[in-house]
Amino acid sequence: MVPRRLLFNKFNTNNLKTAPTEPIPDLQKSLRYIKGVGEYLATLFAKKEVNTIQDALYFLPRAYEDRREITPISQLKPGQNTSVLGKIHRSYPVFFSRSKRRAHEVLLDDPDGVPGRLKLTWFKGPFQKEKLTEGTLVLARGEIKIFRTELQMVHPDLEILGKKFEPEQISKGIIPIYSETLGLFQKTVRKVIRSVVNQYLYQLEEKLPEEILKKNNWPSLQAALRSLHFPAADSDIAILLEGKTPAHERLIFEEFFSLSIGLALKRREYADEKGIAFKKPEATWAKLKDNLGFRFTGAQTRVVREILDDMTSDRIMHRLVQGDVGCGKTVVAAAAALVALEAGYQVALMAPTEVLIDQHFQNFQKWFSGMDIPLVRITGSMTSKEKKDALKKLSETAPLMVFGTHALFEDYVQFKNLGLVIVDEQHRFGVRQRAALMSKGTKPDVLVMTATPIPRTLALTLYGDLELSVIDELPPGRKPVVTKVYLEKQRSQLETLIRKQLEKSSQAYIVFPLIEDSEELKLKSIEAMLPGIVKAYAGFKVAHLHGRMKSEEKLQILKDFKENKIHVLVSTTVVEVGVDVPNATVMVIENAERFGLSQLHQLRGRIGRGADESFCFLMATHLGSAEIIQRLKSMETIHDGFKLAEVDLEMRGSGEFLGTKQSGLPNFQMASLPRDFDLLQRARKDAFELVAKDPELKSIPQLRDFLKKKMETVQLN
Ligand code: ADP
Ligand code: MG
Repeated sequence: MVPRRLLFNKFNTNNLKTAPTEPIPDLQKSLRYIKGVGEYLATLFAKKEVNTIQDALYFLPRAYEDRREITPISQLKPGQNTSVLGKIHRSYPVFFSRSKRRAHEVLLDDPDGVPGRLKLTWFKGPFQKEKLTEGTLVLARGEIKIFRTELQMVHPDLEILGKKFEPEQISKGIIPIYSETLGLFQKTVRKVIRSVVNQYLYQLEEKLPEEILKKNNWPSLQAALRSLHFPAADSDIAILLEGKTPAHERLIFEEFFSLSIGLALKRREYADEKGIAFKKPEATWAKLKDNLGFRFTGAQTRVVREILDDMTSDRIMHRLVQGDVGCGKTVVAAAAALVALEAGYQVALMAPTEVLIDQHFQNFQKWFSGMDIPLVRITGSMTSKEKKDALKKLSETAPLMVFGTHALFEDYVQFKNLGLVIVDEQHRFGVRQRAALMSKGTKPDVLVMTATPIPRTLALTLYGDLELSVIDELPPGRKPVVTKVYLEKQRSQLETLIRKQLEKSSQAYIVFPLIEDSEELKLKSIEAMLPGIVKAYAGFKVAHLHGRMKSEEKLQILKDFKENKIHVLVSTTVVEVGVDVPNATVMVIENAERFGLSQLHQLRGRIGRGADESFCFLMATHLGSAEIIQRLKSMETIHDGFKLAEVDLEMRGSGEFLGTKQSGLPNFQMASLPRDFDLLQRARKDAFELVAKDPELKSIPQLRDFLKKKMETVQLN
């Protein structure tokens, strides 16, 4: 007999080329493999991001219902609050002629034929009346009353079980309640999950080391998931509802643990590698001090020393400098750059926007004047001739410092001897991009700077592979920015206030969340608001700036703003990162409720940079809930970015912190910060200890394979 495949290939030779596909492991198979799950049901589950069998195993109940007590009808007593299993004897509408009320009644018998009867009464409804036919089994929950001589339950919670008695459908224990999606009944979800758990749970492999489970008295992965889907009858329901059972704990721990193992491995990798041991610079540092016109703050001095220690050792530096907006990170970066430059190496500084690159370039020109160090830019908006010249310099000249956006990652950018990479505003860069740049040098040191006020708690998870330096002091003479929440009806009052500032020759930013009118979000756009703004500030020069403008245009506008040729700068959040114009003293943020506190703080950080008092006005247009007001009002009293980040985190949870896209935070399924911080710390400690003892993860092969897969698909920061 000719194999089917060959026959087929006669007609379709393409098939010869396709490699035989590997069998899909059961856990990765679509939920459709489960009996009773059709296409329709699968799409409903998919809405909850449950696609595979493994997803279903991890799809945990959002709540539980206590149904441990099911009282036989014959034993019911008035006043009791309980569940009753009964078989429908009769279901019928009633009309009370005296009160003119309509109702529906159902008479229940004991399913085992024990004498006794319960009447269920609805004055409206009941739900799915047509299914309440004779012989159908139902589970009713509610309070037992006595009416005349009959036992009665009014408006019970009712679960229709059908005509066939299937005991597993009414498990008398604590019943899981899953997240609802339109059209998905609890009964259906439970049934699907039950078959998934029964058929496939045994295939799920343990990822945590035995000792850790033992030490903490935690259940195995399988036992944990089983106990959360189907809690034992003697479980403490309060603890279950709070998500604090040992099963919950070990699942949350597992999330933190696998992340921490990844970070520990990375840090180990760095520690093993030898880099360049620079010498302490002499001449250029002295010159820098002359050029600055101010003295380093104590915090800056300390951080520069930490950097110098790293750079003079033969380890590769991987340091994160974290500091609130305006604390003066740039000049610390300049000092670091000089360590490499004086030793004859090249330095690359990358920043997320061209605006920022331009600003850094100008500052460094000033700070490095008289040092004879070539400064070069590589940006997306350069002409090809300019780019070619710059590239040639990079490949030939050292020392040299280059400033660039993501264009620096391109393959064609070649360095002569890259000694230090500085990344400004790190949260905008992917880890992979950082790695790409590093690979261009002979193991350059890496300095990452962020103003994102990541609370320390989060810094641990996010940058756990980096050493941390914190600049926790602002340059002297800074006054806190006076901050106030304004409502739409107070707009003209606000405009008067701002005009007063402008008359004092100050400048103002007005920031909008979006560029174009978005019907959906109903946010004001620059285009719609601009004429009104121009009118409100007649006599002053108003200009607008947004991300979609050409770079030259943007840079020109910022230059004019810096030189006080523009008085009011209307902008999207492109001004958010790093822009430094000390004469600007007013910041208006429209639709402030749309921003996270950390982002508002970043924006506010654009002002209060000079000696004059500065003002930040938060226009709240959709002041809906008290919660939103409270959140915005915290800006009025809190001026510390780290504290604000903590407030943000508490109010919005890590998922929403800074908007997920920007934060780069790992996406936890079960864990929630700061709630689970204690578990995070424990997981981190255990993970680092394990990696120190067993760097190849021989003792946890499951987790090793899992991480390997994960590293291939997503960045594990
Ligand atoms: P950020 O940390 O937000 O990047 P910058 O580096 O832009 O802050 O610094 C903010 C402003 O403070 C700049 O104008 C900078 O020149 C100035 N500055 C930095 N350090 C000091 C200091 N020690 N004394 C006075 N001014 C300083
Ligand atoms: Mg900065």
